[in-house]
Amino acid sequence: MADRVAEREYDIVIVGGGPAGLTAALYAGRNKVRAALVEAKGAVVDGRLLGAGGQLLNTELIEDYPGVRSILGPDLAEIMTEQAQQFGTEMLAASVERIRVDPDGTKVVETDQGELRAPAVIITAGGNPRKLGVPGEAELAGVGVSYCAVCDGAFFQGAHLAVVGGGDAAVEEAVFLTRFANRVTIIHRRGELRAQPILAEEARRNPKVDFILDTVVEAIEGDRKVKSLRLRNVVSDEVSSLEVGGVFIFVGFLPNTGLVDTHVDHDPAGYYLTDPLTMETSVPGIFAAGDVRSQLTRQVTTAVGDATTATIAATKWVEERARRRRAGDEGPR
Ligand SMILES: Cc1cc2nc3c(=O)[nH]c(=O)nc-3n(C[C@H](O)[C@H](O)[C@H](O)COP(=O)(O)OP(=O)(O)OC[C@H]3O[C@@H](n4cnc5c(N)ncnc54)[C@H](O)[C@@H]3O)c2cc1C
Repeated sequence: MADRVAEREYDIVIVGGGPAGLTAALYAGRNKVRAALVEAKGAVVDGRLLGAGGQLLNTELIEDYPGVRSILGPDLAEIMTEQAQQFGTEMLAASVERIRVDPDGTKVVETDQGELRAPAVIITAGGNPRKLGVPGEAELAGVGVSYCAVCDGAFFQGAHLAVVGGGDAAVEEAVFLTRFANRVTIIHRRGELRAQPILAEEARRNPKVDFILDTVVEAIEGDRKVKSLRLRNVVSDEVSSLEVGGVFIFVGFLPNTGLVDTHVDHDPAGYYLTDPLTMETSVPGIFAAGDVRSQLTRQVTTAVGDATTATIAATKWVEERARRRRAGDEGPR
């Protein structure tokens, strides 16, 4: 970051530069509002933001983004960033540490480079799949270790896959993966699945799904692609090896929803609850889009759609607030 961003005023501040944030920046620029996007992992070089794209940067191939038959995640990130920058939204490389709401409703976005102030904020800070934290997981990510069945399942035609986890996501995704794989083994650390009975039953009835319970993965093994898992039975302590072509890990997702210092309504897993028409959270003027939002699925297409709605709604909200203020209504919104 070349300059500190200290004490700047905008209409909308966008927190996070993944697909949702970049879409919000594009629409804000085209709406001609004074907007800034703040990305923690970026760097601004010659006025251009580099390193944005969020989870796209960890994604091998995207084959389900309409209009683009097949593209590497980092390439899509670069195109989205360039397109977003064309229309005038200011791109800042800084990490947002806290968002506070002043008594007059102004949102103060505190970053490691200074403060940004705006009546409206769109939170697009995404999140990260929870990791197992075992040897081989990081090294083989993208070459057999995956956290997204919808995204990567089709790359494993005819394979034997492992799914780690016992909740709804793990069981649902295991069944989904049987569209591609010959065999899917669900590995769960407890003796019973945590998933809803109806989902567990569907998995049990599927002839391609089998289970290894009371078992944890201790290591993911392979050289440039996944070959096997080292397993340990937590009851007997017995160690074994399972040969697989890939492993899908569904042990939770951690949304980056801890930034606002006032209460924002969220679901039990911590995702923001939003108005379906506007993407506004329970805090007036704070909107949320993409993977931070409570919804059925988390995809690039949904992130982009959410952000479109959120930005148009935030723009109208800022204009309406300004109109009310001009008319002498000084309410907190
Ligand atoms: C391995 C993998 C493969 C996938 N494959 C596909 C696929 O094939 N098709 C598909 O549709 N989807 C796929 N997905 C899902 C898709 O990538 C996500 O749904 C999408 O990226 C969500 O976009 P987002 O903008 O909401 O969040 P993110 O992509 O998570 O972006 C959030 C951004 O916010 C920034 N940020 C976070 N905290 C702060 C902070 N405090 N201050 C400033 N910036 C911050 C982050 O650095 C990041 O750049 C895949 C995901 C993974 C992990």
